[in-house]
Amino acid sequence: MNIYFGDLHNHCGITYGFGSLENAIARAKSQLDFAAFTGHAMWPDMYAKAPETEFVVNFHEVGFEKLRQNWEKIRKTIAEANTKDFVTFQGYEIHSRQYGDHHLVSIDDDLKLVYMDSPGELVRDCGAEAIAVPHHIGYTPDYRGINWDKFDEALSPVVEVYSKHGCSMSEDADYPYYHNMGPRDTRNMVDEGLRRGKKFGFVASTDHHAGFPGSYGDGMAAVAARSLTRESLWEAIKARRTYGVTGDRILCEFKVNDAWMGSEITANHRRITARIETEGTLNKIVVYKNGKPFHVINGESSQEVNREGYYKLRVEMGWGNQNLYRWNGVMTVENGEIESYNTYFRGRSVLAPSKDETYDENTINDICTQSSLDSLRQLSWACDTVGNKSTLHPSTSSFVVKIKGNLDTKVTVTLNGKTYTALVGELLEYGYTTHMEYYHSQAFKIYKAVPETKYLFCLDLEDDKPETDCDYYHMEVSQNNRQWAFVSPVFVKKEGEGNV
Ligand SMILES: [Zn+2]
Repeated sequence: MNIYFGDLHNHCGITYGFGSLENAIARAKSQLDFAAFTGHAMWPDMYAKAPETEFVVNFHEVGFEKLRQNWEKIRKTIAEANTKDFVTFQGYEIHSRQYGDHHLVSIDDDLKLVYMDSPGELVRDCGAEAIAVPHHIGYTPDYRGINWDKFDEALSPVVEVYSKHGCSMSEDADYPYYHNMGPRDTRNMVDEGLRRGKKFGFVASTDHHAGFPGSYGDGMAAVAARSLTRESLWEAIKARRTYGVTGDRILCEFKVNDAWMGSEITANHRRITARIETEGTLNKIVVYKNGKPFHVINGESSQEVNREGYYKLRVEMGWGNQNLYRWNGVMTVENGEIESYNTYFRGRSVLAPSKDETYDENTINDICTQSSLDSLRQLSWACDTVGNKSTLHPSTSSFVVKIKGNLDTKVTVTLNGKTYTALVGELLEYGYTTHMEYYHSQAFKIYKAVPETKYLFCLDLEDDKPETDCDYYHMEVSQNNRQWAFVSPVFVKKEGEGNV
C-alpha cells in the first residue's frame, strides 16, 4: 500500500467561490495526488429572504445557477484533468439544515447534476456511483451541522473531520470553529457519532473557496491504496482506509490484527500495530479505545540523535506585506542525497464570500507553485507568497526535504540571491532566519533538522479485554507545530454467538 494525499472538497469560481477551475486544477496538480472539485449546487431548506439574510441567500442562488449553466463543461474539464500522475473525481455539494452539509464524490464522469432534498436521494438518483461525505459536521444542529440520527454509513463511508472551518473530532480538539457560521457543538462531534455506534472513517479536505485545493494547513485526505488510479483510490475510500491531516504529510499505518484502519473484524485478542513518520518533532501519539486513551507516546521521550541515516529539513518562506512576492530557490546537498521532499504551498485564503473583503476574483490564486528534483543532490522551486493575515493566521509556504547522509552532510540553500550553507550536524543545533530587504520585508527560515530518531515511530500493543460488543480503536498524531493526523478507527467485534 502507498499513502496518497489529496483534497475531496474545495470550491472555486464555478459557483460562489473565486478563481478559475483551470487554475484550481493547476494548483492541485502542483502538489497533490488526487482531487475532487465540488461546486455548490443546492440548498433545499435554505433560509427565507429577509433584509438580514439577503446577501447570503443571493450569493447562494447566483452560485447554484452558475454551476447549473456550466455543468457539462465543468464535468468535461475535470474528466480531462484525470491523468496517470493525478487523479480527479467528480462531485458537487448540497447544503442542508436537516441532514447537515454533504459533498457528493463520484468516480464516474457521467455524474448527473440533480436536485433533491437529501444526500441519500442524490446518491440514489445521480446516475453514477457516488458517496456523500458529511463536512463541517460540528455546527449547531439545524444550522448545517451533522444530524447523527440520519447518518447512513452506506452513503457515507468517510466523514470530513477537519477543514478550514476547524476540527470536529471532539469538544477538546485543537482548532475550534471560528467562522461566522458559529461555534462547534458537542452533540455534533466525531466522538459523539462513534459513541452512538456509527461506523465511518476519517478524511480532511480544505473547503477552500478561492481555488486552492490542498492549500497548506487547511486539511488533506490521506488514502492507503495500491496504486494511483481512480479505481484503487475509490476502493480504499469506500473501505475507509483513510485518515485526515491538517497539512503536514504525516505517514500513518494503523492496523489491528493486520486489518487496516477502517476495517471491521471479529477478535477477542487484539494486536494493535502502527508505523508513524512525522514531518516535524512529535508532540504526541495517542491510540484510543472506545474514545478513551489506551496508549500514549510523548515526543519528549525521543531525545536520541542518529549520527547517520535520515534527517528532515524544513524551509519556510513568506511574511512581509499583502503583495505577492516571488521566491526562486535551490537546495544542494554534498556528501549526502535528497531522498524525497514534500511541498506545502498556500495562496490567499478565502473561506466564504464576504462583504468586507475585496480581491481580483478571477486571478486570486493564479500564483506560482513549482518544484522539481533536478538530481539526487539538487532541489529547485519557485512560489509566490503574501504576508500573514494575523499572527494566528499564517500564509507562508514551505517544504520539507528528507536527506540521507550524516552529521557532515553539507546543505546549501539559495533563495533570491541569499545563500546559507551548513552541515547537518550544525543544523541539528541551530536553524537560520534572514530577511530579504528592509525592516518588515519578507523573510525565510530554515528549521532545525529533525533526525530520524525523532520522526519515526513504531507501535506494537496487545489488548485481550473486549469491553463492548464492538470496540473501536483509532489513533491521533500531533506535532509540536500543531499539525495533526486523525486516523480512521478499526471496529473490532467480540467473539461469541453470532459473531464468529
Ligand atoms: Zn463546501
